[in-house]
Amino acid sequence: MTQARSKLVVGNWKMHGNHAANAELLQGILAARPLGVDAAVCVPFPYLSEVAVTLANSGLAWGAQDVSAHEQGAYTGEVSAAMLMEFGCRYAIVGHSERRAYHGESDQIVADKAKAALARGITPIVCVGETLAQRQAGETEAVVKRQLSVVIHTLGQCIGEIVVAYEPVWAIGTGLTASPEQAQAVHAVLRAQLAAATARAAEMTLLYGGSVKPDNAAVLFSQPDIDGGLIGGAALKAADFVAIVRAAA
Ligand code: PEP
Repeated sequence: MTQARSKLVVGNWKMHGNHAANAELLQGILAARPLGVDAAVCVPFPYLSEVAVTLANSGLAWGAQDVSAHEQGAYTGEVSAAMLMEFGCRYAIVGHSERRAYHGESDQIVADKAKAALARGITPIVCVGETLAQRQAGETEAVVKRQLSVVIHTLGQCIGEIVVAYEPVWAIGTGLTASPEQAQAVHAVLRAQLAAATARAAEMTLLYGGSVKPDNAAVLFSQPDIDGGLIGGAALKAADFVAIVRAAA
């Protein structure tokens, strides 16, 4: 049965921005975004502080794009969940395909990062998704289930507290988007897998990410198991991000 879940739209700024551009982007979003849809921006670490000030009491949440799996210690360059919490972070993206590909993050590291975030009250947005070669080999379902199963095993009953983002790697930043039917099919697989692990699966938020734009957002978000989007490129233009948030309304 389809449950009434509120939508969520999250912008992933990746390694873009500077003081002036960030201020302009946020002002543009705040001036025009519709109320009543949960939305957030995940910004580069150095800008968390100023974004937290700009967005305080705005209703627009903020988050990080990664978090360390470790609590504290000699981990040069890493940022802990406890540190993020001090900046009022609501979300941390973990397991983005760019981190899996360029930083060698394994399924277990991703799961450990999700656990570290949750332990500090930060909602991890756990990304899963297949490459083009894996899709063409008919491995999509097996790949995303394997990625999610490690998170389920690691988090136990806390699995109900995460957000999952299905992001087919071949659709990220490429202009290629999964069709609504393709995306819904994978979301249904993920929700069924979650349902086997937690009674809260029906209320969990499952996002789609991969070249979501103002002109394709509404049809994607209208699928029964798609509860919003994780937005890359289009999150860098206020008008586009606002239009995508509006499509979720
Ligand atoms: C992403 O990086 O999470 C993403 C979905 O990027 P884009 O929207 O640019 O494909």
